[in-house]
Amino acid sequence: MEPQTSTSRRVLVAKPRGYCAGVDRAVVAVEKALEQYGAPIYVRKQIVHNTHVVKTLEARGAIFVDETEEVPEGEIVVFSAHGVSPAVHEEARQRGLRTVDATCPLVTKVHNEARRFAGQDYDILLIGHEGHEEVEGTSGEAPDHIQLVDGLDAVDKVQVKDPSKLVWLSQTTLSVDETTETVTRLKERFPTLIDPPSDDICYATQNRQVAVKEIAAEAQLVIVVGSENSSNSKRLVEVAKDYGAEASYLVDNATFIRDEWLEGVTTVGVTSGASVPDELVEEVLARLAQHGFGDVTEVESVQESMRFALPHELRKDLRAS
Ligand code: SF4
Repeated sequence: MEPQTSTSRRVLVAKPRGYCAGVDRAVVAVEKALEQYGAPIYVRKQIVHNTHVVKTLEARGAIFVDETEEVPEGEIVVFSAHGVSPAVHEEARQRGLRTVDATCPLVTKVHNEARRFAGQDYDILLIGHEGHEEVEGTSGEAPDHIQLVDGLDAVDKVQVKDPSKLVWLSQTTLSVDETTETVTRLKERFPTLIDPPSDDICYATQNRQVAVKEIAAEAQLVIVVGSENSSNSKRLVEVAKDYGAEASYLVDNATFIRDEWLEGVTTVGVTSGASVPDELVEEVLARLAQHGFGDVTEVESVQESMRFALPHELRKDLRAS
């Protein structure tokens, strides 16, 4: 490693970062369900896309399953923040499961838009990543009306029955810049394409991208704390590279940081995805401090105050107890 004085090394920490209102609500919903009903509580899919959060809840008695059919009849199942299709709700009903729906209200908003436009016989172009749970849930609202547009290359393959009745919607956790590019390309092909009534990319995704752009402009390296299956965390890595960082890496926790990443670096940027508890960022800062990066500045670009109430079925039981 190049000789450098510790005072020449600094860390810029993005704010906002980490937990968004939808993730906080979903994690607290599982915690409260465990307290209220006792273990085990079944959770369909990862409640949020973060390995640490899932392991912590597992240790407290949550059982994560891939499909509703794995939940024993009559048990309680929590649906994850990413949302589920109506078919999954129906399957749970048929199996006599008690459900707590922790779908983020901002994902529910996109489901409602999909249902409304499909009801008016629109073709819906859903911009998102194939296989992502949120996309599967939203598509399930109107499978006959929705086609997925995953990336710029997919634009040319889109087929619509009536271009005058065409709207685009999106996954909530996409790159704002990439989505704008995709929409521009779609509008070149379909000038009558309608925009969603309001932004589908959620406030938390947008704010974390704004914040990482600010630190990426000054940092040679940006470390993004987040899990490999977290869409919004992966987008932060891409945005950091696009906006000035020479390198950016996604790390699940501090042990993933490699010493060679820090060679010759004087300014490290740090941020985290919307499903990441801040204790993981603290551990990354401690690890960086061991390498002489003790000068830490938080760079706040947007103030956040969003909160969501717990799922209503859980609130009702909590009130009654
Ligand atoms: Fe909701 Fe956005 Fe958080 Fe997803 S990232 S849970 S849509 S607030």
